Amino acid sequence: MKPLNNELVVYIDGKYYPKSEAKISVFDHGLLYGDGVFEGIREYNGVVFKLKEHIDRLYRSAHVLTLKIPLTKDEMLSAVVETLRKNKLKDSYIRLVVTRGLGDLGLDPRKCPKPSIIIITDTISLHATDAKDNGITTMFSWVRRNPVDATSHEIKSLNYLNSVLAKIEANANGVDEALCLESNGYIAEGVGENVFIVKKGELLTPPTSTGALAGITAEVVTQIAAKLKIKLTVTNLTPFMIFTADEAFFTGTAMEMVPIREVNKRQIGIGKPGPITKKMMTEFQKIIEDPSQGTKV
Ligand code: PMP
Repeated sequence: MKPLNNELVVYIDGKYYPKSEAKISVFDHGLLYGDGVFEGIREYNGVVFKLKEHIDRLYRSAHVLTLKIPLTKDEMLSAVVETLRKNKLKDSYIRLVVTRGLGDLGLDPRKCPKPSIIIITDTISLHATDAKDNGITTMFSWVRRNPVDATSHEIKSLNYLNSVLAKIEANANGVDEALCLESNGYIAEGVGENVFIVKKGELLTPPTSTGALAGITAEVVTQIAAKLKIKLTVTNLTPFMIFTADEAFFTGTAMEMVPIREVNKRQIGIGKPGPITKKMMTEFQKIIEDPSQGTKV
């Protein structure tokens, strides 16, 4: 199908559709049951940042769901690159989705013979333009992360209601972003971000055993910390620990690195981005601009 009015095209199961006509069936179990997996990926200046790492994570999530993706990882990588080429995008946000596919109204995945693959390439804006300079406000929401033996966010599945509920709470309170606690009360992550705090010059972040996603941005931050010789400890964080932290920040593909200046009306540190956060953000910017960190389109 030809794109209308220079519309972006969306890949669905090997074909390209104009954005306004890119649709899947109402019988897809991705819609009916949230049965599917996804990735959010960024392209910087014609290079897809950590594309291989995102594809690996997509296949890991699918493996846990016993969802057999009908493309090899190499084919998936080529499909992403081809979609970006068709759309002539240089700086974009890529949403890669694999759904269980068409089934009947029962939830049994065995009724869905063919998973569907969707590749959307577009742009995203998650926060106000001054968020990186001034930091954002956050709050703990009432909704706990699912325990690790439930639909844990370690799987990047289409079940994001847990995060959506937390976001609704932040919206209702006029706060930029929500922080999610796990079932024991330790900090897990944001709604779509990992969280780090700085205390006495050292970094601390929660383990994925809180049910948090193993973030690719968080992994980059771990490497930056090693390079800058800043000690990083993965440990359970209590709400008290973030309230009394010197600095705190979120990491995520969509949000990148964003300082947290407030949690439930408590000022964090000096109430604006601290020296370690700022230093790490500068390094982060260098890494995302480094073409060796991704896949050229
Ligand atoms: N946690 C959750 C629940 C997420 O959805 C995301 C976004 N993928 C993250 C953390 C951050 O992960 P990444 O840095 O890989 O984008």
